[in-house]
Amino acid sequence: MFGIYVHIPYCRTLCPYCDFVKERTGASAPAPFVDALLKEIDAFEGPDEAGSIFFGGGTPSLLEAGDLSRILDALARRFRMAGPEITTECNPDDITPDLVRAFQDCGVNRISLGVQSLDDRVLRYLGRRHDAASALRACDQVAAVFDTWNLDLIFGAPPIDAWPETLRGVRALDPPHVAAYGLTYEAGTPFERKKSEAVDDDTALRLYQDVEAALAEYAHYEISNFAKPGHEAKHNLVYWHNEGYAGFGTGAYSFVDGIRARNHVKTEDYLRAPGAKCESLALTVEEIKVETLIQHFRLREGLPRAGYAARFGVSLEADFGPVLAALQARGWLESTETNVRPTAEGFYLNNEIGLALVDA
Ligand code: SF4
Repeated sequence: MFGIYVHIPYCRTLCPYCDFVKERTGASAPAPFVDALLKEIDAFEGPDEAGSIFFGGGTPSLLEAGDLSRILDALARRFRMAGPEITTECNPDDITPDLVRAFQDCGVNRISLGVQSLDDRVLRYLGRRHDAASALRACDQVAAVFDTWNLDLIFGAPPIDAWPETLRGVRALDPPHVAAYGLTYEAGTPFERKKSEAVDDDTALRLYQDVEAALAEYAHYEISNFAKPGHEAKHNLVYWHNEGYAGFGTGAYSFVDGIRARNHVKTEDYLRAPGAKCESLALTVEEIKVETLIQHFRLREGLPRAGYAARFGVSLEADFGPVLAALQARGWLESTETNVRPTAEGFYLNNEIGLALVDA
């Protein structure tokens, strides 16, 4: 499946831990940016068919419904799509019953809510503009309209003793999909200075295992993602299956015909030449094969041998037999009748598996 990603690089406030491409705005996503997106979509050269659209950011909930509609119309003109999954990331503070209905009327069928925590102290530490009460209200308003939606969480922010209560709150909200990521203190962000406040690896693992325990009824189908049956994120599966995608908007990445490329990361540059690339790299088939394995091993189901053979015209064992055997011997991978997949331990050790595959 081919996916479409649209990056909306505007936020009302800038969270100090965030290293995404974004800039501050006091209003909605501006008209010149939307016009540039339309131009980029119309001029796109690549596949004509797509199965998913994901509006990420930044803050896509700063799009006016009319603009969202214009972008979706442009995508529908450019791509053949049969019942695509259409996700829009939203900031809880932007959610109102009117916005939720308007987005649904535009064709959006999945909302991803950046809740992060249900504790006001943690939300203040993260510099979020919403509080726990508005997050709860937003979840209720989204759940009243959308059958499928995601709740994003961040673990590892102080006070960490607030974490069990946040997880109890999430269980009560009963979202169909949850994504939980550890807080990172990235270089170049204001949080870089707070690096010493990061939890140690053992604590991070415990907090992560708390999520697994709280969401035991969900399918833990990807390292950081949990879904009720039928609610897996189709768009993200494009990445985890290492399939192609087009990225529109400031700083968006594309992966088309083996070429990974990135749009200009400054909006002023993007507006001057929508779709012009600041990076472009043609991957070799060998590199694509390794990435295909690494990405699939993020998934509980792992990599189907038949799928690999159909895609690359050679068996998985012929290409990677010795390294896969070594990773199985270490207890990080296991073989089923049809797939090679991570063990419970390998699920936590995707980076180490990746390093072994790159070195093979
Ligand atoms: S975390 Fe989201 S809302 Fe906060 S600055 Fe980054 S993109 Fe904007």
